[in-house]
Amino acid sequence: MNRVVVVGAGVLGACVTYHLARAGAHVVLVEEAPGPAGGTSGATFAADVTHLKTPYAYYRLNRQGSEGHLRLAEEIGGPGWRHPLPLVQWSDDEGGQRALRERTARAREWGHDCRLAPASMLRDLAPAVDPAACPADEIVVHSGGAWFDAPRFVRALLDAAARRGTVETHYGAPVTGLLRDGEQVTGVRAGARTWHADTVVNSAGPGAGRVAALAGARLPLRQVPGLIATSGPLSGQPLTAILSVPGLDLRPTADGGVLALSWEVDARLRGSADGLPQELHRRARDIVPGVAGARIADARIGIRPVPLDGLPFVGEVPGAPGLYHLVSHSGVTLAPVLGRLAAREITGTGPVSELADYRPDRTIADTVHDENLISMNRRGARPAALHGSKRQAEV
Ligand SMILES: Cc1cc2nc3c(=O)[nH]c(=O)nc-3n(C[C@H](O)[C@H](O)[C@H](O)COP(=O)(O)OP(=O)(O)OC[C@H]3O[C@@H](n4cnc5c(N)ncnc54)[C@H](O)[C@@H]3O)c2cc1C
Repeated sequence: MNRVVVVGAGVLGACVTYHLARAGAHVVLVEEAPGPAGGTSGATFAADVTHLKTPYAYYRLNRQGSEGHLRLAEEIGGPGWRHPLPLVQWSDDEGGQRALRERTARAREWGHDCRLAPASMLRDLAPAVDPAACPADEIVVHSGGAWFDAPRFVRALLDAAARRGTVETHYGAPVTGLLRDGEQVTGVRAGARTWHADTVVNSAGPGAGRVAALAGARLPLRQVPGLIATSGPLSGQPLTAILSVPGLDLRPTADGGVLALSWEVDARLRGSADGLPQELHRRARDIVPGVAGARIADARIGIRPVPLDGLPFVGEVPGAPGLYHLVSHSGVTLAPVLGRLAAREITGTGPVSELADYRPDRTIADTVHDENLISMNRRGARPAALHGSKRQAEV
């Protein structure tokens, strides 16, 4: 039986664990936090971001991730983590509107379900939005949009993995060393405990660089902090769309509140987040007036694990056979496809061709393929962890 140690119980670790267990591997999941989704997957906006991806091959991969959520939901059953809702975009200047129109045309050519619509449609799509907050005549509507409850997704996958296969889970176990037999990585050490394996999967999210370093390997990865603020239930109408608009991304939460994120606010994260949750709340209120009567229920900083060229790292690197990296930005969207393909490669007989563009030892090109990250670079969000912390933190 194939023995695999998976480091990290976020969306990527949980997805690969599920698919490995299904394929008959013996999986040991080792996580430093006291429970699942204690890292970035517990502090994320978690919308389907397929529409932001280029070139076509990477768009396709994200689309497979998006479709993978539907397939997994059918396969696993239980309480849902996927919340389908239209995603709406607009810009506040002519250049921005032109760019949106061009991207919409490109996405439609690729078969993406999106269209331009008169701004008056907002009244039907999202009556909670103040129409005066949209200065544009036209909006873009992505009808197949969705947001995901990432912690629930992780728990559902791990429960299903335990039902279907042999999975041992160890929380509160930070991996501090790798076992080696020559070059070959043969297991992990967490304090006094060790676990042996044919393959160790490094799905430690923003901590993946540290795990790679234990084998003398380097992952060209940035840690990019992002602040999310969640409100309590809104007074009046709930938000019925995901909004991606100038200075703010906004989506509903399961209990009738909203979750807000802003690249502009992230650019102001400087060691302290003082006043910034309130700033997000104000921005949300300017667009959805019902936010005014709701308090800030939660604010936290998640650390995005961002490969330097924006594309995932999946596979082994020379010099450390047996150590398999599984690291990505937009990991919530991509986890179903990356987890499935990685498990196929680990338990199969050879390389999986769909992963060829995402090998960790590729030449890192100076072009980012993700419009979200282009936006981040333009807004100058700081590529460093806050508070010297590698984990998400409440603020
Ligand atoms: C603000 C923000 C907004 C985002 N928005 C979106 C979005 O809209 N759509 C989208 O698809 N993605 C989005 N992302 C990105 C997405 O959330 C991440 O790509 C994804 O959650 C990463 O999952 P992961 O499993 O790789 O990492 P994590 O969830 O961080 O899991 C890694 C786990 O490894 C553990 N770990 C680390 N080091 C060790 C060690 N040495 N030993 C044991 N355990 C260890 C950590 O505790 C953690 O639990 C966003 C991220 C942020 C921060």
